[in-house]
Amino acid sequence: MSLPAENMRVVLASRPVGEPTASDFRIETAPLPVPKEGDLLLETLYLSLDPYMRGRMSAAESYADPVEVGAVMVGGTVCRVLESKAQGFAAGDVVLSFSGWQTHSVADARHVRRLDPKAAPVQTALGVLGMPGFTAYAGLLQIGRPKHGETVVVAAATGPVGSAVGQIAKIKGARAVGIAGGPEKCAHLAELGFDAALDHHAPDFEERLAAACPAGVDVYFENVGGKVWDAVLPLLNTYARVPVCGLVAYYNATAPAEGPDRTPALLSRILTKSLTLRGFIQSEFVKDHYVHFLADMSGWVREGRVKYREDVVDGLEYAPSAFIGLLNGQNFGKLLIKVAE
Ligand code: NDP
Repeated sequence: MSLPAENMRVVLASRPVGEPTASDFRIETAPLPVPKEGDLLLETLYLSLDPYMRGRMSAAESYADPVEVGAVMVGGTVCRVLESKAQGFAAGDVVLSFSGWQTHSVADARHVRRLDPKAAPVQTALGVLGMPGFTAYAGLLQIGRPKHGETVVVAAATGPVGSAVGQIAKIKGARAVGIAGGPEKCAHLAELGFDAALDHHAPDFEERLAAACPAGVDVYFENVGGKVWDAVLPLLNTYARVPVCGLVAYYNATAPAEGPDRTPALLSRILTKSLTLRGFIQSEFVKDHYVHFLADMSGWVREGRVKYREDVVDGLEYAPSAFIGLLNGQNFGKLLIKVAE
């Protein structure tokens, strides 16, 4: 098989201030990387776009190092092996890798996982059967711990994390209330089996949310922060659990929220309602729970108990615009870039 001459890649051109713009990214070509002993030469089939990438574009201290200006944007990928210099892999194999926003890459074979295209569509390894699905599974079951009959609320509910949170909550016998942007997304939540769906753009969102949670909220899976958090906080029951997973409403913020300092009111509520707020990064649960996740989630997907929706954009050159849209709700389902057939 003849190899392509060049690698196309998207690099970080500058650190965004506020919402990223097209000029914060640059598309480049580079010579094809050359694998050494133990490596695989990979062709990217699918690139996953995820909200955490906004944090990597910034130099602010976080749980992971930032992408350097001029470096390839990081990201999970599903790739085809073009050339193998590692035992146990052959050209044509499909693997889960972390190759970033580029058409070709070299990976140490110890850092990839082989995928079985017959078991599930390969791109699900970036969504429902991958990091976002695992985030929902681990955060909900290890921190949220929903009990039968309890009410679980989640926002960004049509995304890969939120949709899995709501459906796993249902499997565990809880009531699932989903929050999403717009009527079309809310209609989709009904198809997924959520008991109620609320549009956070609605002018009476707060009242509607309260009406949808007549017995209060026992688990709030925090994906967004902002006005959704403000609306949920007064509804939290005594001993409610809040897995703090993501705060996408703040990722592009350049200044603190306006208005009075609400920390005293928040801490009082945590105290008087005996609330548990626990932040987490999914990787802390991988060692103990990933195997169980793969077994449970694959079964639920096969049985149709967990459904998933993908938003697939064709062409690596559209990754910057698709990513900018992800941060303000333009995606509808797990956002993937299809890089090659
Ligand atoms: P999504 O595909 O759901 O995309 C993000 C969604 O957030 C948007 O589509 C939009 O949906 C919603 N959103 C954006 N701004 C706001 C806002 N101001 N108020 C309310 N909703 C908003 O993302 P994922 O499912 O991949 O991720 C969900 C969350 O989980 C993110 O915060 C992410 O950072 C976090 N995460 C955390 C991990 C961890 O280890 N802690 C791992 C993986 C993800 P809509 O139009 O419906 O409002």
